[in-house]
Amino acid sequence: MDREALKKNFEKHGFQTSFFHTCEEAVSYLKEQIRGETVAMGGSVTLKELELDKALSEHNVVIWHWNTPGMETLKRATGAHIYVTSANGVAATGELVNIDGNGNRVAMTLFGPRKVYFVVGRNKIAPDLTGALTRAKEIAAPKNVMRLEKKLPCRAAGGETCYDCNSPERICRATVILERPCALMEVEVVFIDQELGY
Ligand code: SF4
Repeated sequence: MDREALKKNFEKHGFQTSFFHTCEEAVSYLKEQIRGETVAMGGSVTLKELELDKALSEHNVVIWHWNTPGMETLKRATGAHIYVTSANGVAATGELVNIDGNGNRVAMTLFGPRKVYFVVGRNKIAPDLTGALTRAKEIAAPKNVMRLEKKLPCRAAGGETCYDCNSPERICRATVILERPCALMEVEVVFIDQELGY
């Protein structure tokens, strides 16, 4: 992970950045940064691996539909001041890519919260935006389909690639490229020099 290049390119685009060698360091940092808030979290294997919901619950109200599934939780999340998610692809040139099915996760990174944290492992980083989009579509999305055990062609093929299907169960419905933080929010990218999520 080229910290200097990532810091330069993301900060040039108006993102804040922070860098950590380990998950423990990153979780401890986030616990310090986020206190006394209502925090919502996006669906994310990275966040689950970090057990960030438990860590943040010590000093915040945490809303996460992976703990309490359902529309009610998703609606409550829209009122959160802080949002934490990961990205499906991170361009080293300073852009973030996410693909969503329900749209709740990408929506929260565009409008609503005061601050959004993207927590990303080094495996999410691609050299440029084309690489980040390819990663999101060809790697992250099929692997999420495998996790969700949906009847989709990418799962039937072992989750190795995307077939740009037209299935009613398709989970890839909105692709958002964050080129800069949207005008009414701060965005910080928390880089962890470990493999996390997919
Ligand atoms: S578009 Fe269809 S085939 Fe491609 S990853 Fe998404 S669900 Fe799988």
